[in-house]
Amino acid sequence: MKIIDILNSKTRPFPSFELVPPLKGSDINKLYKSIEPLMEFKPPFLNITYHRDEVEFRQKGDGTFEKVTVNKRPGSVAIAAAIMKRFQVEVVPHLICGGASKYKLENDLIDLNFLDIQNVVALRGDAIPGQKYFSPEPDGHKYSCQLVEQIHNMNRGKYLDETLTDAIATNFCIGVAGYPEKHYEAPNPEMDIAHLKKKVEAGADYIVTQMFFDNQRFFRFVEKCREAGITVPIIPGLKPISTQTHIELLPRAFSIDLPEELMKEVRKCKNNEAIYQAGIEWCTMQSKELLAQGASAIHYYTMGKADNIRKILTAVF
Ligand code: FAD
Repeated sequence: MKIIDILNSKTRPFPSFELVPPLKGSDINKLYKSIEPLMEFKPPFLNITYHRDEVEFRQKGDGTFEKVTVNKRPGSVAIAAAIMKRFQVEVVPHLICGGASKYKLENDLIDLNFLDIQNVVALRGDAIPGQKYFSPEPDGHKYSCQLVEQIHNMNRGKYLDETLTDAIATNFCIGVAGYPEKHYEAPNPEMDIAHLKKKVEAGADYIVTQMFFDNQRFFRFVEKCREAGITVPIIPGLKPISTQTHIELLPRAFSIDLPEELMKEVRKCKNNEAIYQAGIEWCTMQSKELLAQGASAIHYYTMGKADNIRKILTAVF
């Protein structure tokens, strides 16, 4: 079932979760174990992130360095299919433009279609570590709206190979990313929202947001999107902080603010256990307020942790 149909048909709010593929060489059973405790909350869908190749310089025995290309978390498409089969749940693999030509993306979409996966989130991806700016592949996309357009074309039977005159039309539901605190490259929130509108005009069915810790930012973002004429559903994305490291890492990694009220709570904490608890309480408070204000779904960034999310969901859903 398409996510947009789930969003339109559910009469009660529901949670969904974002999963990260296991590191190369790890057992997929670990991932299954992290999903199992969340399934009692009946998420209608699970998202699976995509991780692009990275370039590393590895020192050889003779002291020289060799350049190697590695993908630390391969297998997104296969993992999505395996999770769908095992848990009988809709899956939403993420697709990114970074590191991929449009031809590779088309082949990935064909694979997904064969696997009966009807949902994707279309993203640009970030610059590779060590590079300052995102640079597209020679045959790739510069912005996610171009990937959305490509998928939308396939949904109308229009593939890249124009000699394919009677190709089957795919039936993908397309999600895209939105940034309540603005994407870090956008010159201002208004332009970021104008770019978001382009993704919707290109064929996106719904928006799922970057994590945020201040609900007011989300409410203002939704208001501005509506004023700009974006009418598709906007799913808020939440993540509970759980360690001191998050306080330093999350603002840097995701270009987001941690509100002073939350920081006051964290400063009272004597150890990571107390921070973990404060994170649960903050995320529970955010979730309850979002639902009270009419959110029909909340997307949780689990990052492989189920225990804190379970506690939040028990209090909220
Ligand atoms: P875009 O929509 O292309 O936007 C990128 C920047 O360009 C923005 O500043 C925007 O304002 C601007 N822009 C957009 N369109 C135009 C245009 N037409 N003209 C001029 N400027 C434009 N990364 C991964 O690698 N793997 C994942 O699985 C993953 N999942 C994510 C899930 C969610 C919900 C979110 C919020 C992010 C995720 N990311 C993931 C991170 C994402 O790839 C980065 O945030 C990336 O920097 C931007 O991706 P985007 O799709 O929003 O890019």
